[in-house]
Parts: sequence; C-alpha cells; structure tokens
Amino acid sequence: MAKAEDILVAKSAGFCPGVKHAIEQVFALEAARKKPIYTLGPLIHNKQVTSMLERKDIRAIHTPEEATNKQGVLVIRAHGITPDLQRQLEACEMSVVDATCPLVKHAQNIIAKYAVQDYHTVIIGDAEHAEVIGLMGYAQNRCHVVSSLEEAKALPHFEKVNVVSQTTQQESVFYELSEEIKKHADICQISNTICQPTKDRQKETMEQAQNADLVIVVGGKHSANTTRLAALCRGLCKHVQHVETEDELNEKEVVEAKKIFITAGASTPSWVIDSVAFRVKTLRDRATRKVVYRYKPGEKK
Ligand code: SF4
Repeated sequence: MAKAEDILVAKSAGFCPGVKHAIEQVFALEAARKKPIYTLGPLIHNKQVTSMLERKDIRAIHTPEEATNKQGVLVIRAHGITPDLQRQLEACEMSVVDATCPLVKHAQNIIAKYAVQDYHTVIIGDAEHAEVIGLMGYAQNRCHVVSSLEEAKALPHFEKVNVVSQTTQQESVFYELSEEIKKHADICQISNTICQPTKDRQKETMEQAQNADLVIVVGGKHSANTTRLAALCRGLCKHVQHVETEDELNEKEVVEAKKIFITAGASTPSWVIDSVAFRVKTLRDRATRKVVYRYKPGEKK
C-alpha cells in the first residue's frame, strides 16, 4: 500500500483568491438569474469549468461587437481588461460586472500612476496573455513587454521607466530581467507585482519538487500559470507530468516513483486535483497488492 507521506498534494494547489472570487460572483448571478449571463472570454482556462458553465448556459463572448445586441449581464474575468474596452462595454446595453482581481487592479494602478508622469512602462510577461493586454491599456501607448533576457537586452534607452510584472510571472525571471532593464534608463521605478498567491505557490513548489521522484502538475494546457508551474518543476525534478485529468497520467511512472508531489495551477478546480490524487493512490495500492491464485492461471474454465 502507498504510504501517506509518499504522495504529497500541495497546500497552494488550485484556485487562487482572484479566480475563486470571479467564479463565486458568476455563481451568485446564476443563483439569482433574471437575465442571460455572459463572460468576456472564458472565465478561466480550464476545460472542466468551461464545460460546467456551458451546461448552466453561461457562455463566453469575445468582443464588444458581440455584446452590442445582447441583453443580460456581462462578467469581466479576473485578468482584467483595458480602460478603453471597459468604456466600450459600459456603453452597450448589458450590465457589466467587474470581477477583475484586486491584485491585477493594483498592477493597473501602478502603471496608470507612472504613465501620467511620462514614464515608459515595461511589463515582464507574456504579450499575448489577456492580463498583460489589459495592463498595456493603462500605459498611455508607451509600453514594452519582455519575456526573456534577450528581449530585455534589445530595449532602447529610456529617460524614465516603470517596470512591473505579470502577476503570475516566475520571480527569478522578474529579478533577472529587471536588473537588465535598469541599465536602459536614467530613472528606473521597479514594482514586483507578482501576486502573493503566485509567490506562495512557487515557494512551495521549489521546496517540494526537488525532493520528489515525480511531480504531477494538474491544470489546463492553455493555462499560462499552470504551464509556467510545470516549466518550473522541470528544472527541479527529472519526471514531471502536466495533466488535465487523471486519464492522462503515465501510470508506469506513477507506480515506479517513490515520492510524488502533486500541485496545480490557479485555475484548477479542487475536484479535478482530488480525482488525480485518488487515481494516483489507487494505482499505487493496486501495484503493491499481490494476487494469490488457488489454481493455475489459464487452467480454470
Ligand atoms: S493569480 Fe494572483 S493576480 Fe491573478 S487572479 Fe489569482 S490572485 Fe489574482
């Protein structure tokens, strides 16, 4: 039988407070449903949650144009949006519920504060990510996004620059790139806007992943924070599996590993983590159980 301490599920695994709050807001609207409910983009990057919302007839729309002729409630997800887009949505007929995470709003406010003082903004993050696209909207068209040291080295010289981070950035990357960006400015303002839940998740992962023979990262393959977490683990442990559900587990590795650490991204629901942990335990228990035949296998009709 697998010993309890052989399988460790991270304390920090699963929904972060921002995602939890956004989902609770949508569920509260659903419970009191008087009008159709829409989200601007998928509420979170997790197929299981998206399917559950669709079953409740809560659907994603993607542009303000799609909102134009609709009645109902439109929820802005935890990633936030640009101020321009917010204005466009508020001008349409739907009621807008803003579920932007307060920790994303904090980063937006820092960008806005320095942008009015003529600072350029540099965001350390992924330019394609919805949160970063939203943050860029606060920079008054003076914004660069960098995700690697090479990109930071290629930045021009600034008189004044304000450096912030995508909230789910890896801390070591943020520090390495901010050091480089400092060399590109006369005045450099740096704010580490990586959110505390992300820092806690990274800290726990770094402590536990290096002592494990196998790390299982549970969460959407399209979820940026889950993918980043899996990349962090790959630098710490030889065997890492990034799975969306228990059906994707590499069973051979699960059975052979001595110590397994299970963690999950900020958009992974607890029921999916529990199902993966349960399957891991079942596979290991089954592997250590001996089958005793009282007849020769194959002889019995
Ligand atoms: S990852 Fe952090 S900033 Fe993003 S929604 Fe969660 S708590 Fe908020």
